[in-house]
Amino acid sequence: MPPDRRPDRQQALRGALASEGLQGLLVTHLPNIRYLTGFSGSAGLLLVWADATILVTDFRYAVQASSEAGAAATVEVDPTNVWERLGRILAGLPRGALGIEAHALTVRDAERVTGVSAHRIVPTLELVERLRVAKSPDEVAAIREAAELAQTALAGVLPGVKAGQTEQEVAAALEGALRRLGSEWHPFPTIVASGPRAALPHARTTRRAIETGDWLLLDFGAQVGGYCADLTRMAVVGARADERQRALYEVVRSAQLRARDHIRAGMTGREADALARDVITGRGLGDAFGHSLGHGLGLEVHEAPRLAPTSEIPLPLHAVVTVEPGIYLPGWGGIRIEDDIYLGPEGPVCLSDGRSELVELT
Ligand code: ZN
Ligand code: ZN
Repeated sequence: MPPDRRPDRQQALRGALASEGLQGLLVTHLPNIRYLTGFSGSAGLLLVWADATILVTDFRYAVQASSEAGAAATVEVDPTNVWERLGRILAGLPRGALGIEAHALTVRDAERVTGVSAHRIVPTLELVERLRVAKSPDEVAAIREAAELAQTALAGVLPGVKAGQTEQEVAAALEGALRRLGSEWHPFPTIVASGPRAALPHARTTRRAIETGDWLLLDFGAQVGGYCADLTRMAVVGARADERQRALYEVVRSAQLRARDHIRAGMTGREADALARDVITGRGLGDAFGHSLGHGLGLEVHEAPRLAPTSEIPLPLHAVVTVEPGIYLPGWGGIRIEDDIYLGPEGPVCLSDGRSELVELT
């Protein structure tokens, strides 16, 4: 069993609250609640105070909340109104500034907090998210396990893909394999995009039948212990790749390998992005790479840090990020290759298999 990191996480948050001049924080973003307490339910309000951690939830989670949170939080279950319960708890706590998560609380829920509390409400941004960026060894191991599971699922499904099958049929086979292998859930809707549809960077999987010689782009993930992996792999279906497919694939692949090998903690998001972008731009395809290089991975599939031309923030040590350059040519198709990288003290460690050789399903 890995060590219980929740007390240290809560202590680190209390330090952050003190430096912001806050008495306490109302945590409503569910991945943050999971990070601080272990509670994985879909509804909860967490109060973190100097000497108290109180999780308010409803009847559905009475058993689950206590068993998952254990000693990490005092659980209060309210069968009728969790907001009124929150108000009664706040009334017993010292007055002062109460932080709310401005990026995660709806306007309506913010009004509910104001309605039940006499505290001064202070909007905050990503206090818990900032703690989540640097991963512990057990978090890195969970992401690696999720990546291995995703790769095993793909290895079982890809050889059976044939022209004539629809994108949705391929996605169904992949999602079924992911679940059978133990993925908790799909961290995002699986993208299977074929032929010209591969030119849509965030394509919706459709009923389009795959044709011989089509590109097939598969962007999919797995989740283990709450932690997400996110991979993109390409294949040419039913034929050998033609010259243009092969040439453009090699551009993306060399850009991806360069970024994967040279990305380091301490670089800015812009510098990391440039590792791949310079290769693609150098081949005259800069306009076809219209998104950023990657994003952080953890309890959420998109979290800090950002690997983007606009980010001057240094990449933190122990972050896990995706490296996913792509080129998209409307009418022709698109190519993206995505792996998951741990930014360790010795340099980058690829948590996914990094197997990006061109796949031809002949
Ligand atoms: Zn992806
Ligand atoms: Zn991604």
